[in-house]
Amino acid sequence: MNGASRTVLSDSPPSVGAASGTVDFFRPVRRRTRVVRVGEVEIGGDNPIRIQSMTNTDTMDTAATVEQTIRLVESGCEIVRVTAPSIRDAENLREIRRALDGRGIEVPLVADIHFTPNAALIAAEAVEKVRINPGNYADKKKFEIRDYDDSEYEAEIARVHTRFRPLVVRCRELGVAMRIGTNHGSLSDRIMNRYGDTAEGMVESALEFLDVCEDESYRDIIFSMKASNTQVAIQAYRLLAARLDARSPGEPSYPFHVGVTEAGDGEDGRIKSAIGIGSLLEDGLGDTIRVSLTEDPVREIPVAREIAERAERVARDRATRTEKIDVMSAPIANRFGHARRDTDRTDWAGLPIGGEEPIRVELDLPGALDRPAEVAARLAMDLSALRDIECESLLVGIGPFEHLVDLANEFAAVGLDMPISLRVLLADADLEQASRPLDSGVKIGRWVVSLSASAKDASITGAREAARRQGIPIEWELQAVDHEIPALVGRIFAGGVDATTAALSLGTAASLHDYRVLSSALADRGAARLPIVLRQYVEAVETKSIELVGVPVSELLDASVRLGSLLCDGIGDMVSIDSRVGAAPAIDLAYRVLQGARQRTTRTEYISCPSCGRTLFDLEEITARIKGRTDHLKGVKIAIMGCIVNGPGEMADADFGYVGSGVGQVTLYVGKQVVARAVPEAEATDRLVDLIREHGQWVEGSTPE
Ligand code: SF4
Repeated sequence: MNGASRTVLSDSPPSVGAASGTVDFFRPVRRRTRVVRVGEVEIGGDNPIRIQSMTNTDTMDTAATVEQTIRLVESGCEIVRVTAPSIRDAENLREIRRALDGRGIEVPLVADIHFTPNAALIAAEAVEKVRINPGNYADKKKFEIRDYDDSEYEAEIARVHTRFRPLVVRCRELGVAMRIGTNHGSLSDRIMNRYGDTAEGMVESALEFLDVCEDESYRDIIFSMKASNTQVAIQAYRLLAARLDARSPGEPSYPFHVGVTEAGDGEDGRIKSAIGIGSLLEDGLGDTIRVSLTEDPVREIPVAREIAERAERVARDRATRTEKIDVMSAPIANRFGHARRDTDRTDWAGLPIGGEEPIRVELDLPGALDRPAEVAARLAMDLSALRDIECESLLVGIGPFEHLVDLANEFAAVGLDMPISLRVLLADADLEQASRPLDSGVKIGRWVVSLSASAKDASITGAREAARRQGIPIEWELQAVDHEIPALVGRIFAGGVDATTAALSLGTAASLHDYRVLSSALADRGAARLPIVLRQYVEAVETKSIELVGVPVSELLDASVRLGSLLCDGIGDMVSIDSRVGAAPAIDLAYRVLQGARQRTTRTEYISCPSCGRTLFDLEEITARIKGRTDHLKGVKIAIMGCIVNGPGEMADADFGYVGSGVGQVTLYVGKQVVARAVPEAEATDRLVDLIREHGQWVEGSTPE
């Protein structure tokens, strides 16, 4: 634990009493794993985080699969997965391997298996790793609702073991590795009936298969726990880590392949992937990653590379910190399930925040009053749109009083009534000036006061007295890193917790782990019910890939990992963005991250798979077509799946589903219910729109063709 003598939190999964695990939420180190060899590539141990992807060509089309594999390798992909839906496909993997060898491409291949144990046995002869899905390796999905008594359940497991054991034996003989890849969308009926579609069910599903592997002394295993719901994915990986630790205490465990499945495309696909994968990597969980996008798989590689490099860079920085972090309370209410910090609802000049209120979104405009012309120019294109983009609060640095009044008047002229908050220096003159707007009728939501370790206690007391006099609460923005945070929090609340404090935050350089320290330190000081504001800085770095949302992809990924992880952990009542790329893209990014973390829904949600050789139509094109018709439907969830493998399970999370079921044929779902089979592809988008209408979830805004 990095030499620090702080409290290390030990927590047991709530519903699996036998399991335990220790985790350092403040300075996590990489989970200790054995090394699994996949061809010439080693996964786990001290090896770098490996980047992998999957082809979406027809496996029987050797030339196309080889060409796409080579493009993936040239873009930095280290392991390539290819689907083997039938025995013929499995047999053709040997041709693909041979063709790649002939081109001098040694990249390890992974055979992706669902439903066909016989194909797995053949594929194992030709590839370096086999991926099996415990939900469908030996089970056909029937959606049976029935109770299994213990003896029936055991009999089912024995049946599964009997079907699985030959593959384990063959992989051990051949020196082929295996991924036990559980997917939230394809749990077996047996697991669903006992555990539901929960993180616990996902973990149990994988451990049933591990029993056979260990029984056969086969340990070249990698696990994955994928879900399109970022929270579920994070919880399942954490729970699996705890369960594996409990199973073999003190021993290096099995490596993790980390990913968010059916993440979709474009910015939202990248955001969801970064939230799930980045959050886990930053906590030391993950040895190989795949970013699943509904796009050309080559486009996944730079995203994966950036997320992995970010995690490795942050881990190196963290490793240099050794000072004691003096906190006692847990920073996260429930690491195996989502629970938002329980804060008091409060009001900042008309903006309700905290408690059950939605997580708020603020634009932070430093210099808005000192340099009004410059800021006005930056805002010019955005000002009238601030309401449309649902910017809920504005934070400006203190400056000339008349500029603040001008700004407030400009807002009033375009009908904006959001509260304005003032960033104030911890100096008497500033505090006095910050009080003046009240005389003009400008409503101030809060003062944001930056506080560093060098601040004098008398200044803190003075600010609190000014806040009490003026009736404007303070958000204390701590300019501190992990071990410095508890002491600063202690100084703020030396005189007790009262209404002069509106919220706490950290500077934009703070890590997500620093925010966790803040959460614990507040709880230690009896201030757990105060809101926390998450600050994010969006830089306008030079990049070729600004095409997505007007935000550089590196900034988009950084915001997603940092904010998204905390939001999934239940930390944060407001996201405040300081943007150099304009107001609209930054606010849009904040809302997208909130939706990606399942915290606030403000747009249509698409759950679309990356497609693979099982897909019998152009999923990218279909997704674009469906989006073109439906992306104005706020809050509607639409699943778009290339095939049935994960389709039915993911429907549990979607309002409507579009699932490929044959050449040019689609099955349409409402929730989990199939409502139309064998719909010709040419008609399927219209039928989907009709279904949305029939179920009262259509709004005009885009005219159906
Ligand atoms: S759901 Fe999509 S990616 Fe998954 S197996 Fe089916 S077609 Fe392939």
